[in-house]
Amino acid sequence: MRTISVLGATGSVGASTLDLVRRNRGEWRVVALTANCNAAELATLAREFEAELAVVGDEACLPELREALAGSGIECAGGPQALVEAAARGADLTVAAIVGCAGLAPVMAAIEQGGTIALANKEALVSAGEVMTAAVARHGATLLPVDSEHNAIFQCLAGNRIEDVRRIILTASGGPFRTWTAAQLETATPSQAVAHPNWDMGAKISVDSATMMNKGLEFIEAHHLFPVGLKRIEIVVHPQSVIHSLVEYRDGSTLAQLGPSDMRVPIASCLAWPQRMETPMAPLDLPKLGTLTFEAPDEMRFPATRLAREAAQAGGAAPAVLNAANEAAVAAFLAGKIGFTRIALTVERTLSRTLPPAPASLEDVLAVDREARVRADELLELA
Ligand code: NAD
Ligand code: MG
Repeated sequence: MRTISVLGATGSVGASTLDLVRRNRGEWRVVALTANCNAAELATLAREFEAELAVVGDEACLPELREALAGSGIECAGGPQALVEAAARGADLTVAAIVGCAGLAPVMAAIEQGGTIALANKEALVSAGEVMTAAVARHGATLLPVDSEHNAIFQCLAGNRIEDVRRIILTASGGPFRTWTAAQLETATPSQAVAHPNWDMGAKISVDSATMMNKGLEFIEAHHLFPVGLKRIEIVVHPQSVIHSLVEYRDGSTLAQLGPSDMRVPIASCLAWPQRMETPMAPLDLPKLGTLTFEAPDEMRFPATRLAREAAQAGGAAPAVLNAANEAAVAAFLAGKIGFTRIALTVERTLSRTLPPAPASLEDVLAVDREARVRADELLELA
């Protein structure tokens, strides 16, 4: 039996992970499950999976969690530090599925235990960059990418040498506004933005897909996971989301990974790695799919990928500032406080201010993140 912790157990990736664990109950012992504030749902999951520990990130939700778990023998805790302690308890596999930089400190705590981390929480890697990759190397931890594109690349790289890679090609669905004009984008509402054509995901990543910032964050994520150099990482729009990404080698061979747009496929690849496991996915019906299409991204309508590339080229604190400003702007958009196109504009303006020095530690990254949110909120006139 292997042990597993799921950070962000009540979210979209958390639910997909637990669905697979449920189908293979005998193989896993659950250590920690966490949520932000959904105490009722978390308690139900903790009881079902007989977790050792359940933690809410928001301490105000702890009394409700305590009450819901009374008599179960399951430990409970609340607050950001309790999330870190839950991750530090260690497990053979930690699934990092908290959304945003809020997940960074717990991910770093899991890395320090030297185990295997299945990373969905891309914002943590984008913000921390080398601070995280250096910790992975120092503690002998293993990072397995859950993000479907990076999981695809990871699979396409298996058995090959990274020096032989000519290009990594990240596919993007283009999101719900792929065919919208610039004028139409001005009118996009939160409910339109979260209605993704192919994937069923949390609200924040759905908005990121609509602005294409998701692909921008993934560009930076790929740069840290697969060090081939920024010039060798490209983005192509592929509206059907069947090919999850590609790796082109110097001999002219290009490998692709295909699958249904269901996160249980990449999550299963991390749960079973280096083996394979059964999933309830129907086989790909290629004749039914018929045609797969590709187009170049339009950075005039969707400037986020350009901003992310520039932040990656600048390095240092820039990716953490980009991510923090984006988180602040997406929250404001989802709350109905700003229009859709102001998201990327706010990120660009926050980045154009003087950047702090390159972060060298987790504390530095968290300080850059906090400061950038304050600046973004000023620009959003929310401060
Ligand atoms: P979600 O919003 O559905 O779930 C987020 C989870 O994090 C929930 O359990 C929530 O309670 C918890 N959480 C939120 N804020 C928190 C905080 N401040 N402190 C502690 N916990 C907090 O999000 P999701 O769609 O599952 O995405 C999770 C992560 O995975 C994101 O980084 C996202 O970019 C990435 N990802 C998601 C998908 C997908 O298909 N959903 C695909 C690829 C990558
Ligand atoms: Mg992805």
